[in-house]
Parts: sequence; structure tokens; C-alpha cells
Amino acid sequence: MNVRTRFAPSPTGLLHVGGARTALFCWLFARRRGGAFVLRIEDTDRERSTQASMDAILDGLRWLGLDADEGPFFQTDRLPLYREHVERLLHDGKAYRCYCSREELEAMRDAQRARGEKPRYDGRCRHRTGPSPAGVDPVVRFRNPTEGQVVFEDLVRGPAAFDNRELDDLVIARGDGMPTYNFGAVVDDLDMGITHVIRGDDHVMNTPRQLNLVAALGAPPPRYAHVPMILGPDGQRLSKRHGAVGVTRFRDDGYLPEALLNHLVRLGWSHGDREIFSREEMIELFDVADVNRAPASFDYDKLGWLNQHYVRQADPERLGALLAGQFERMGIDMSGGAAPSLLARVQRERARTLAEMAEKSRFAFEEYVEFDERAVKKHLRPAALEPLEATRARLHALADWEPAALHAAVAECAEALSLNLGKVAQPLRVALTGAAASPAIELTLQMVGRDAALSRIDRAIARVRERSGQS
Ligand code: GLU
Repeated sequence: MNVRTRFAPSPTGLLHVGGARTALFCWLFARRRGGAFVLRIEDTDRERSTQASMDAILDGLRWLGLDADEGPFFQTDRLPLYREHVERLLHDGKAYRCYCSREELEAMRDAQRARGEKPRYDGRCRHRTGPSPAGVDPVVRFRNPTEGQVVFEDLVRGPAAFDNRELDDLVIARGDGMPTYNFGAVVDDLDMGITHVIRGDDHVMNTPRQLNLVAALGAPPPRYAHVPMILGPDGQRLSKRHGAVGVTRFRDDGYLPEALLNHLVRLGWSHGDREIFSREEMIELFDVADVNRAPASFDYDKLGWLNQHYVRQADPERLGALLAGQFERMGIDMSGGAAPSLLARVQRERARTLAEMAEKSRFAFEEYVEFDERAVKKHLRPAALEPLEATRARLHALADWEPAALHAAVAECAEALSLNLGKVAQPLRVALTGAAASPAIELTLQMVGRDAALSRIDRAIARVRERSGQS
């Protein structure tokens, strides 16, 4: 069988990590079997669909590298197809027009509730005869079987059975002719030859309804796999309250797509106790049948750990370009400063995300506003004056602003003054960055650059003098 999966988001919000994981599972399943992954945008809810959401979904998928073999197809471009199928069902007596008004339906449900029954459409228009009421745009309802069961084998959840008596007559087309989600999805799954519907388990209850529609349209059904939802670290459904949930937000916060994919694949799926999976390994090993039934928890710490792993391995040129994007977002002008790839090389061991890396490299382009007072107290003491002045003179005379020469200059100063290296490097570090922590001193000097370094050392010398004057 030629496997065909689809990801079918509604553009009514961000591409959430839950949706991204569904897309990943569909993509992996198709890739592993040499099948096709179809992207379908379910945009028939015109009121709630937005262009911004569409862009965020496409953008997020592109960033994650979940490339579609076919699509994106937009349901609003396919309206004649749904209409044709509605007509066919009407013609075959498998669907009927319903003229019930909102008020009538409300009253019907109230009465059902009052009798202690579950509110559901009671089929009152099923056998309607006579002229159509004027001025009403009828909806079209599916004539759901009233007896028997819908039985299927969920690839994740195992065997499932639903009583038809529990299912009422579903609206398949609204008054304006728009298909409802359940109908559009079924028509498209059949028309697009989808063999495996992999989606979130919030759709489990839709599956028996969709299977009845598939049967009415006279087609063999696809297989279904419902993957469990993603929880936050506290066991509640993952939401904004837990942190970032939109895929593009992770990108903007400086995560690498391979880290997010790696974390997503592990949510509900495992392969022994292995944690790291490249894309190729995921494709080789993933099977939807191995997905766990139990909900999985999104773990921000684990994601950070994975990100650090991938950041350490990434090519400095690529990291540099991403870092440049972070600086741009922070509104920092990098022109004339250190090369981003240099920063990436220096900082990649010390940061979990590119945003953190950029924050820690800020001093390379921007002079600190204030010294960190604790660092001043500890390192810009009167005793720092001599080493600062000596290093300034040596650095000023240095022809070659390269790490080896910079290191030698600082080391020679320490030796000449009979101080250990720290006594020279720490005040210098505070002078260059305003604070007491930064990469190796020669790299810090290189990142700041000659002119800025000398002027910041002057600023620190002035600060020490001022402090000595006061004391
Ligand atoms: N548009 C639906 C959603 O975003 C798709 C559900 C499905 O995969 O069938 O939830």
C-alpha cells in the first residue's frame, strides 16, 4: 500500500507544539514508508480563520523542515467538491435538509435536559414533507444510522466501538453551503487518498461519525491513530501558562529546529532509553503503532538540554547567522563589531539558547550602562589601578589583536607585576563587560575589539580612581 498521511490544521491560532508533533508523526510515518505527506488547511470557518495564523502555521512547518509532498491545499478552494458530495448524499436519501431555527433547537435541547436526557438532535426534519419554509437557508444533516455500532481499530488506542444510538444527525453543510469540519475532512481524506489519519485524541469522538460518512460515500476507510495530548510539567494540559507553546516562539527564543523536533518525537514515543535522534534516525525508527496511549509531558528543561547539545554541534557559520537574527530582534547594531561566527564559536559551550548566547555577547556591541556593583567592589579596588594601567599600555602598543597575542600581553603584564593572572584578568574583565563573568580574557578582548576595549579600560581606571579618592 502506498502510505499517504495528512496534516490538516485549522488556521485559527498558532502552530502549537501539539499540532507540530502531530505533523511530525504524520511526516515521519509517510517518510519511513516512502509515502506522501499532504498538507491541508481547513479554513472553512471563515470567521475564525486568519491570514496571520495561516502564515504562522506554514512558517512553523517550514522552520521545522516538515515539508509537504502535496499541498498546501485550502478547503475554501475546494467548495464545489463538497457541494457535489452533499448533493449526492441528498439525492441518495443519505442526507436531508433541516429547517430548524436556532430557537427551536434550543427549546428541543432544554426539553431533553428537563427529561434528564442527553441533548442531541432528535431527527425531526428527517421525514419532513411539504413546502420548504420561506426565508430559511436550511442546513444539511447526515442521516446517521440509528442502529448498530461503529467499530474500528485505533493504531494507538486499540479497538474502539461506538453505538450509533449515541450519535445524532450531524450537520454536514451550513446554511451558506460551507461544509462543516467533519464533512470537509472526510471528503478530503477520501479524495486525497489518505491511508492513515494521525491526529490528536481530542478528535476520537469524531471518528465514528466520520466512519459513517465514509461508508455513506461508499469508500474504504483510512486507518486512524489518535495520539495523546501534551501536558505541561504540572500534569495539566499544556498552555501558555507553562511557557512558550507556539512553534515560531521557540524559534524566536533561540531554539534550533532539530532540538524541538527531537523533544517532540519523544512525547509519547520512545526507542529504548535513547534521548537523541537525528532526523534520519527518527525516520528509520518511528512507527505510530509504538506511540504510547498515556499523555506525555512537555519538559522545558529537557528541551534546553537538547538545544545545548545541538548548539554545541552546529556549524559556527549557521549559528552566527542565527545569532545575528537574535541581535536584530534585540535592536542591537552589529556593524563594525565582531563576526557573529566568532561569537558563536566562543559562546556555544556557555548558553542553552541563541537568545541567551546573544544576551551574553551583548557587550561585544554595546557598552554596558552601569558597572555591576558587586563586581566593582570585588575587582575594581585601588589595587587594580596598576594592572589596568599596565595592560592598557601593553594592549595599546599591540599590533596584532588576535587571541594568542592578547593572551600573551595580559600574561606578560601579570608576570611583570608579579601578580597571578586572575588579579590582572578580573579587573580587565569588569572593565570590558561591566561584570565579572565572560569568556576567556583574550576572547573577551577580541569580541569587544581594540578601540572599544581601550576606551572601556579608561572608564574602569577612572572608576577606580574615583573610588580611591572617596576611600
Ligand atoms: N482541522 C482539524 C484541527 O485542526 C483537523 C483534525 C483532523 O486532523 O482531522 O483540529
